[in-house]
Amino acid sequence: MGALATVGVRAAELPPANVCTSRMRVVAATSDLASLVDSVGGDLVQVRTMAPPMADPESFEPRASDLALIANAALVVRVGLGYDHWLEKLLDRPGRGFLSAPGSVVDASSGIPLLEVVGRNPFAQDNHGHGIANPHYWLDPANVETMTATIAEAIASVSSLARETVLENRQRFLKQLRLKMHAWAHLLAPCRGAAVLAYHNSWPYFARRFRLNVVGFIEPREGVTPSVAHLASLLTQARRTEVRAILQTTNEPKQFSETVAARLGIPLIHLAPAVGSVPETEDYLRLMDYNVSALARVLVAKR
Ligand SMILES: [Zn+2]
Repeated sequence: MGALATVGVRAAELPPANVCTSRMRVVAATSDLASLVDSVGGDLVQVRTMAPPMADPESFEPRASDLALIANAALVVRVGLGYDHWLEKLLDRPGRGFLSAPGSVVDASSGIPLLEVVGRNPFAQDNHGHGIANPHYWLDPANVETMTATIAEAIASVSSLARETVLENRQRFLKQLRLKMHAWAHLLAPCRGAAVLAYHNSWPYFARRFRLNVVGFIEPREGVTPSVAHLASLLTQARRTEVRAILQTTNEPKQFSETVAARLGIPLIHLAPAVGSVPETEDYLRLMDYNVSALARVLVAKR
C-alpha cells in the first residue's frame, strides 16, 4: 500500500490530460498485453506498460506515475482474473471520468476458456494468489486469437475510423502467429509428455497446448516460500514421476529450485517471464520463440 498511499498527494503534479498526440493512448497492464495491442493497433496507438517486465505483476505496487498513465489513456487493457488486482484500486478512484465510458477498460480474458477455475474473489486478496482461475492464459498462443479480437474491437469502439486498419493488422499478425504455432509445436513434439517441475504455476495453458506434464511447484502456493517439508515431498513426487527439468523464469527466486535440481540431478530451464524481460524477447512472438527454444534445447536434447 506504500506506493498507493502517495498517489493522492502527488496527483497535482501529474501532467495534464490533454497532452497532444495523434495516436490513441493505450495503457496495458503487462508488456505481453502491450505487445499484442501494438500488433493490432500498429501506428494508430501509443502503448504504455504498467508492470515492468521483470516485476512480478501479481504483487506489483502502482506508483503515482501509473495514475498519470491511466488518466491520459483512451483505453486500458488488463489481464483480469485478479492477476492485475492493483489496477482495480486505480480504476476505482473517484473523478476518473472517461474510464466510466463503456469499452474504455477492456479485460483481455473475455471469452478465454479458463483452467483451474476455483471462483475465489480475486479482489479479496492482498497480492499474489490466483483468483477466479489460473490467470496465465496468454501463454497458450491459441488464446491470443481471442485476445487480439477483444483488443481490436476495443480500439475500434474508441475510434471507429480505426476499424478497418486494426482488422487488417490483426489478420497480418494472426498469419505470423499461426506459422509460429506450427513451428513451436514441431519443435516441442519430441518432448511431448515430459514431466517437469515449475517454480510458479504459470504454465497450465502453455503445457496443455504443447503437451508438457507439470507435476509440481517449488512454491507451495503463489508467492509463498517453500518449507523443508514441502521440498522433501516434492523430491519424492519428482523421483516417482521421473521429472526431467525445472521451469524457472529469470525473475523468480533461484535458490530453492537450484537445491531441488541438484538433488534430482536435473537442469533448470531459464525462461523469460515477459516481453522485454531479457534480450531477444522484444514482442510476443519473440518471447514465445525464446521460451520454446529454451525448453527444446534441454528437453529434446536429453531424450
Ligand atoms: Zn501466477
